Amino acid sequence: MNRDPVAFLKEDMTELRRSNLEWIIRYLEGGSKPHCIVNGKEVLMLNTNNYLGLATHPKVVQASIDATKKYGAGAGAVPVIAGSFDLTREFQEKFAKYKEVEASLLCQTGFAVNSGLIPMLVGKPDIVVSDELNHGSIIDGVRLSGAKRVIYKHRDIPDLEKQLKEAEKGGARRICIITDGVFSMDGDMAPLDKIVNVAEDFGAMIFVDDCHGEGVLGEGKGIVAHFNLQGKVHVEGGSMSKGFGVFGGTVAGSKDLIEFCKNKSRTYLLSTAHPPGVVAANIASIEVVESEPQHVKAVWEHTNYFKKEVQSMGYDTGRSETPIIPLIIGDPGKAQELARILFEEENIYGTPIVFPMVARELSRIRVQMNALLTKDDLNTALSSIEKVGKKLDII
Ligand SMILES: *Cc1c(COP(=O)(O)O)cnc(C)c1O
Repeated sequence: MNRDPVAFLKEDMTELRRSNLEWIIRYLEGGSKPHCIVNGKEVLMLNTNNYLGLATHPKVVQASIDATKKYGAGAGAVPVIAGSFDLTREFQEKFAKYKEVEASLLCQTGFAVNSGLIPMLVGKPDIVVSDELNHGSIIDGVRLSGAKRVIYKHRDIPDLEKQLKEAEKGGARRICIITDGVFSMDGDMAPLDKIVNVAEDFGAMIFVDDCHGEGVLGEGKGIVAHFNLQGKVHVEGGSMSKGFGVFGGTVAGSKDLIEFCKNKSRTYLLSTAHPPGVVAANIASIEVVESEPQHVKAVWEHTNYFKKEVQSMGYDTGRSETPIIPLIIGDPGKAQELARILFEEENIYGTPIVFPMVARELSRIRVQMNALLTKDDLNTALSSIEKVGKKLDII
């Protein structure tokens, strides 16, 4: 047949470019820090998940170097075959203690936790009740499971209750409520205390994905500690790649959960374990959060200051309650223009977030606070954001 089997590659990309939806990767020439060289230009970075600045913390970096020297660069196998180290056991024990749970597991990534574990926790005879703004990796995990998916309105407890009643009537084998802890586009939090109350009435399992909460909420321990719900949430998924500044997915919960996950999660069973340097850096990162509380404190001080200032300029920060601060603009073209001018003329690096990540009319740039920012950095960023916002008639 006379057709080009890969013509769609160029066609699809042309369409994405025409709709202004192409992602352009920018390259950091050095560590992920507030003062950072990006595409050859020194900028102030306001868009990293490395909230506490631990990606470049000397103790974390040194732990990685030491472990790499002792153990080498790669793990050699998936964990269940021959890829787990005494370091991994140490991490898992330390992390479980930190999270105040019986046990924990270091998995490949947060994404891999959701895509590998959710389809084992629920299947065809079950119902998943999911917040409408949950992360894409949760959506993928639920799709893979084959369970029936019911969406409840964002953070809406009466709607959640209504959906749970329906699910109960339908005679599902298991009911699982899944929610992000912190929602990454708006920086708001799941009402986990209320979810726990409702879940108990229906015998529903609770799965919270705390990727943006760990290192930030509850003195760094995450959303469960924030609401004092230790022992009441069945599955906590997380990531060492954000607030902790290193890399890896985590599962925290009962010993039964962790044994189950080790034996069933397909991503855990089929994907190679972390390099030892990563595992050691993860251990060091938890130690730093525990011994140096100033980092969590700083990120919150910056958050409160920055949010108050942008709000007083007239920016709409939506429902933000965390160091994720959206500046909601509305028009996607304007959001992209704001981000472009900030980067090119003001050396401020913030990310435009447009459809399909958020509704078209809620286009925004998203900034995230970082413990390593100084008051001067914040004031520099604020004055640029005010200047360009006025120029574009946003404020
Ligand atoms: C970032 C994120 C993930 C993915 O975590 P990685 O460790 O980067 O794979 C999953 N869920 C949520 C809510 C996230 O924000």
